[in-house]
Amino acid sequence: RILPRLLSLSLPSSPTSKLLIRPSRLPPRGPFLPRCAALSQLAAPQTVDHSDEPQEVQVKLPLDRLFLPPGASVTPGDEEVVTARVLKGSNIVLGTYARGDAQVVNADFIKSSVRPDDCPRDGLPEFALVGRSNVGKSSLLNSLVRRKRLALTSKKPGKTQCINHFKINDSWYLVDLPGYGYASAPQVARKDWDEFTRNYFLSRDNLVSVFLLIDASIPAKNIDLDYASWLGQNKVPMTLVFTKCDKRKKKKNGGKRPEENVECFQNLIREYFEAAPPWIMTSSVTNQGRDEILLHMSQLRNYWRKH
Ligand code: GDP
Repeated sequence: RILPRLLSLSLPSSPTSKLLIRPSRLPPRGPFLPRCAALSQLAAPQTVDHSDEPQEVQVKLPLDRLFLPPGASVTPGDEEVVTARVLKGSNIVLGTYARGDAQVVNADFIKSSVRPDDCPRDGLPEFALVGRSNVGKSSLLNSLVRRKRLALTSKKPGKTQCINHFKINDSWYLVDLPGYGYASAPQVARKDWDEFTRNYFLSRDNLVSVFLLIDASIPAKNIDLDYASWLGQNKVPMTLVFTKCDKRKKKKNGGKRPEENVECFQNLIREYFEAAPPWIMTSSVTNQGRDEILLHMSQLRNYWRKH
């Protein structure tokens, strides 16, 4: 498991591996509200209403809100170097393990499993996509692999409640997990899916990170907050993927822009995590965040393979 190990590791020094951080060197956490307010001000346009334009401004995050890649760390004075390596629209710092093999060349549906024990046993690293129904999981999967209909495989009758494995570039897996929060599903069925997915999270040794999808066009939902806090409390490595970040109409979105919803969601789950989990803003309409997610997966994967 990557996350618990992250902060205790360091790399030999080289120009690009200077990103070494120890929790004790992080700036102390300031009071909760003022920092939240300061970030919101940065994210919000100051004079002109750009509500329909994509957010291009990269908000500068304090060091303790960044996700340092596995094996990386920050020494005092390196703050500028670290900030320059933050992936656009995220808090993820790019480290030495991100390589040129990030893009998807081949994507093949392998199998649907009804129990964690039935999943492929070849030990290849995998990333699991999970989220509330309608969050945009299929659209994101299709966008990552640049295929219009690959994720339809998981939407076929009988497969929506399965663990669906897609092999990427013959070397790693994207795993489509059952969506949660279906309004129409009977309570018993919902419980079964929960247990089945949780068992998978806790028992799957080659699971590098869960990618929890959250709709950034609406305010935080309790069911998503519960999911994120469960993952945090169980120390399951997690990346928050905020979807639908192209939807910027304030009125339709409960009065908040995507970056404000992103900020609020993190504030609500912070206490469940030792260090800031990685998060990234995406849109399957504009493909925002697609290459960044793939780079992030690449560095997690390459680190996982070596450790
Ligand atoms: P799933 O149930 O989680 O697999 O969600 P889908 O991928 O089927 O998407 C649900 C709905 O959200 C569909 O109407 C999509 O067109 C829409 N959608 C998905 N991703 C985005 C996005 O990034 N931006 C916008 N505006 N709509 C999206």
